[in-house]
Amino acid sequence: MAAIECPKCGEAQPQIRRPKNWRQFLWGGNTCANCGTEMDAQGRGVKPKK
Ligand SMILES: [Zn+2]
Repeated sequence: MAAIECPKCGEAQPQIRRPKNWRQFLWGGNTCANCGTEMDAQGRGVKPKK
């Protein structure tokens, strides 16, 4: 598995995910612990839809 880095701050994301919501659980996204940016499994930024 390639390391994922936050698209905003470059913080390396842990390989062991703790999904924050169903989308992350289903699609393998992550939330940066440093700046809170959500990203998908490829480390691309995700803009939450409201
Ligand atoms: Zn970040």
